[in-house]
Amino acid sequence: MSTPAANDTPKPTNFLRQIIEADLARGTHAGRRWGGSPGDAEHHRQGSVDTARIRTRFPPEPNGYLHVGHAKSICVNFGLARDYGGICHLRFDDTNPEKEEQEYVDAIVEAVRWLGFDWRDADGHEHLYYASDYFDFMYRAAEYLIERGLAYVDEQSAEAMRASRGDFTTPGTDSPWRGRSIEENLARFREMRDGKLPEGAAVLRAKIDMASPNINLRDPAIYRIKHAEHHNTGNRWCIYPMYTYAHPIEDALEHITHSICTLEFEDQRPFYDWVLDRLKEGGLIAQPQPRQYEFARLNLTYVVTSKRKLKHLVDSGTLSGWDDPRMPTIVGLRRRGFTPESIRDFCERIGVTKDYAWIDYALLEACLRDDLEARAPRAMVVLDPLKLELTNWAEIFGSADHLEQCELPALPHAREGEAPPLRRFTLGRETWIEREDFAENPPKGYKRLFPGNRVRLKGGYVIECTGCEKDADGNVTRVLATVVEGTKSGTPGADSVKVKAAITWVGVQDGLQAEVRLYDRLFTDPQPDAGGKDYLALLSPDSLKVATAWVEPSLAKAQPEARFQFERFGYFVADQRDHRPERPVFNRITGLKDSWGGR
Ligand code: ATP
Ligand code: MG
Repeated sequence: MSTPAANDTPKPTNFLRQIIEADLARGTHAGRRWGGSPGDAEHHRQGSVDTARIRTRFPPEPNGYLHVGHAKSICVNFGLARDYGGICHLRFDDTNPEKEEQEYVDAIVEAVRWLGFDWRDADGHEHLYYASDYFDFMYRAAEYLIERGLAYVDEQSAEAMRASRGDFTTPGTDSPWRGRSIEENLARFREMRDGKLPEGAAVLRAKIDMASPNINLRDPAIYRIKHAEHHNTGNRWCIYPMYTYAHPIEDALEHITHSICTLEFEDQRPFYDWVLDRLKEGGLIAQPQPRQYEFARLNLTYVVTSKRKLKHLVDSGTLSGWDDPRMPTIVGLRRRGFTPESIRDFCERIGVTKDYAWIDYALLEACLRDDLEARAPRAMVVLDPLKLELTNWAEIFGSADHLEQCELPALPHAREGEAPPLRRFTLGRETWIEREDFAENPPKGYKRLFPGNRVRLKGGYVIECTGCEKDADGNVTRVLATVVEGTKSGTPGADSVKVKAAITWVGVQDGLQAEVRLYDRLFTDPQPDAGGKDYLALLSPDSLKVATAWVEPSLAKAQPEARFQFERFGYFVADQRDHRPERPVFNRITGLKDSWGGR
């Protein structure tokens, strides 16, 4: 596991890079101490000067699988730490006891690693943290706020609390509990902690300003009662901090320098700062304290990224699971065949801005093609097989069973001075060809097989079509042709006969049967859930077609997750789960060029 080195090409700048560069130039975080692990002001004071020039974090809630939007956040946070000599923490934001599961924790660790990022520092120390490890400090900070008269226990009903918050045009009104004494608040909060109150009976609220134009500052709740077992702390707590209170504290204890999140949290920033400013006044957190910066979330066309909607696609059986190759989850993208390199390149190319925009799914596919073009071995496959018989085979080669050895480069661009690696296969009397490569009555301009026409079998011989056989319903069952002697590819006579087309084929004797899963866009609409649209009504009927195909023998050695360019059809991957050498399964990642732009 290692974070890929920043390549040498200069990165286009963005507002986050500018902020970090300005901080580094000013020495905003210079001389900061790091206590060796997360902790309060005293803990870090006892540490030594932090060798990490900046600290960022990726803070997923372990309540689902990560998707392509999270990949952007991962690339931003880990990428900035890497580029500026910092460290990025992987932090599980597991403050909500009910929704979190180990399965998700494991999947997130795996996904971040697979993308190529690392939360270890130069000394091998792993910066992987759990927000629930900070419950003690969060509680202590809450009592501190109460003691300063900055928090109170509110026992209004949830409805009353909502009604008294006001709205954008009306200021809120004070709760009848707002004026309680510090002693009473402290005693009542401890009763909450000790399990004396039922769920919903009370919350702890910050005491800020019920008339604030920012509704988030109208005495937000910071602790609530939940008699629920937590995966890390068990039954130790029956009160849990609210996300907006917990998050700044998590950042402060981990001594994060730049806390980067998506724009939905912009309105929360004043409360983020309020919490940290108060704790700073109490000397509770290390300085300088973290600052929050927001960027626009990724919206990708032809997918949905809401966890709820993705879960519905899985639970309803519409898709086969979280790793269905049509899912925009990281496990789904991986199984579809996307490479970590292509996803990182995609995140790099879309950049970081504050502007709301939709990114075209075709860009992700373009990144994959750019990554695989030079390194994916080529192979021939026949997806819609029709048998071709070379009727003069025995006459020319002396035996109907004769096999001609053929070869083609496995990779198109050999390194200078090196012979290209070759793939070998055989041509015999019978081969599989694509059904669409034969036309009994060719349309105008058709250059492939029709009676009287000559084409090249790629890497093999020029052949001349002589006719076909049909079944009782008139379907073509066999194409007939003759070999043109002396025209084998790679021999001096190869160019003696000019043809207008070369077709792909697989030998009947050495071809392997394979299941090829032809994936395409999951939705027919580029923005399936925008503007209140019913995304379920926009599912594409063509997102998966399964072909029983024939593939060339070089694919017999394919390992799961090996990627190939199937000539003329696009990029394919041996399925991570279902592929077996004796029962090959390939997924189409994407076609050879963008066929969507012009549709
Ligand atoms: P939830 O609704 O469950 O909170 P979430 O998508 O916000 O869902 P988190 O686990 O909280 O999931 O997200 C972890 C991090 O990923 C957050 O910092 C969040 O801002 C970021 N993130 C989530 N979705 C996107 C997106 N589409 N683009 C960029 N970043 C995202
Ligand atoms: Mg979230």
